[in-house]
Amino acid sequence: MLRLDSVTKRYGSLTALNGISLNIARGECFGLLGPNGAGKSTLMSLLAGLRTPDAGSLTLDGAPLSASDLSTRATIGLVPQSIALYDDLSAEQNLRIFGELYGLRGATLRDRIDEALAAVQLTDRRRDRVDTFSGGMQRRLNLIAALLHRPKLLLCDEPTVGVDPQSRNAIFDFLEKLNREGLTIIYSTHYMEEATRLCSRIGVIDHGRILALGTLDDLLAQLPFAAAIAFPVRASHAAFAAAIAPHGELTSDDEMHRFGPRADFKLSEFYRLAEQHGIAPQLFTHDRPTLEALFLHLTGRTLRE
Ligand code: ADP
Repeated sequence: MLRLDSVTKRYGSLTALNGISLNIARGECFGLLGPNGAGKSTLMSLLAGLRTPDAGSLTLDGAPLSASDLSTRATIGLVPQSIALYDDLSAEQNLRIFGELYGLRGATLRDRIDEALAAVQLTDRRRDRVDTFSGGMQRRLNLIAALLHRPKLLLCDEPTVGVDPQSRNAIFDFLEKLNREGLTIIYSTHYMEEATRLCSRIGVIDHGRILALGTLDDLLAQLPFAAAIAFPVRASHAAFAAAIAPHGELTSDDEMHRFGPRADFKLSEFYRLAEQHGIAPQLFTHDRPTLEALFLHLTGRTLRE
């Protein structure tokens, strides 16, 4: 459905996207996972036709995506990262403005507004001003504003930043329902939990490049270890930590060490070293591999640094 070939975008001397190639199939929920500054918003703005690339091409169903092609752009909905609503207008007035921008009028527009408000549980707040809404309610309104014209591709740029857990769940349930009904979604986030939950395929992006691409299982299979072993940071564990470090990847924060053993390092050897250093086996927990661990493995940094 959507095809990107060697897409590059620069801001002055900064290369925000560096030769991105990607194919998105109809009906996918594709996750774009990367830390702040990775290039996610830039990519979304190119997909939405708000910016043009410096090199490379983007096509939607074979037709070039361009900022000036309004008919192609009308098939795309963008949920921007910053909330784009009029504070001093009601929810309904906001939706009316967005709907009219897309050429909706009369009964069609009214029905779509009713349906959209109901879908995200905002019907009883429809006449209230947006500045009386919680962050989560504003996010939900921001989302449905992008859907009134029934796009076939929905771009969600970090749509849950600053959202309470309840609204976040409401947004996820709604996106999952839309995706089941056939809407193609591209969802950018720096939360691996969101990409893991929502997306059938994920591209890990950093410094304007796709570092890894595939289903969750494909990506986790790229980790050289099957599970990470965690144990608490204590002065008395320092010598043990130093002893195992050469046999895999050891990362530590204030509280915990996390060790991803290399494939050729046997767990029996790990436990033998623990015993030798006087560390009780009950202190260890085995973590399932995560996208966070993959990002750390690929870049040496965490997603939230
Ligand atoms: P993300 O959405 O992953 O946080 P962005 O696409 O916003 O990443 O930014 C990618 C890089 O481009 C960052 O280094 C950012 O500072 C830079 N950047 C983004 N927008 C602009 C702009 N309008 N002008 C100059 N630099 C920008």
